Amino acid sequence: MADTQGPPALPTLIEISKLDVQIALLSAQKKKLEGELAARKQVIVAHDAKRSARAKVLAEKKLLCDREEKSTKHERDRINERRAALNTLNNYKLQQAAEREIDFVAKQIGQREDLLLGLMREIETMEKDLVDTESVIKGLQDEFSALEKESTEAIQGIDSQLQTLNGERTAQAGILAGQKCLVEYNRIKDRFPSNPIVEVLNRDSCAGCFMKLGPQVGVLVSRGDVVKCPGCGRMLRLAAE
Ligand SMILES: [Zn+2]
Repeated sequence: MADTQGPPALPTLIEISKLDVQIALLSAQKKKLEGELAARKQVIVAHDAKRSARAKVLAEKKLLCDREEKSTKHERDRINERRAALNTLNNYKLQQAAEREIDFVAKQIGQREDLLLGLMREIETMEKDLVDTESVIKGLQDEFSALEKESTEAIQGIDSQLQTLNGERTAQAGILAGQKCLVEYNRIKDRFPSNPIVEVLNRDSCAGCFMKLGPQVGVLVSRGDVVKCPGCGRMLRLAAE
């Protein structure tokens, strides 16, 4: 009953819907910018986690390599000492037996040294990979900083526009404060944020869901009454001239 008193509500609802559509668009833009930033950040975090894991493995390999290097050097020194001492053995048989043993151990050391060389090459490759990964991360971080600066400015712009639009909306909604049609409109807007109020197409169908409305609905809408489409539930307005 309150809806029938005072000025018709429909024009105000249409104004509110225009503001709401802009607010929804800007909010979506803001969300998109924030989402892109978060996604980029996530990529950097993932790369960094990979980098730390690799650095850890590399450090372990280096430790192992150092230990093995010292140990094989020690063994090599010992075998050289033993070889030098061979001449002091005056028993030929003993000398030959010692020589065979020395050769055997020397061969084992040789194998360990080969493995060590392989490990050193592996470490070298890993170090290069790590440098590459670090430079990729640096590049991503630079890109991110630039994007962050740009996005922050864009978001600030959007926020100030949203503030203005929300202020206007509050003023417009104040005109219909306490009216049933505003409550209903708000409910419809939550379901159809991009077009809560749709035009009547060709004077007889809903532009939202294309349902045929019949001549009576057209008459009511022409009068400025708040009418909802029986198909989709959106409010109806006349087509703009
Ligand atoms: Zn409809």
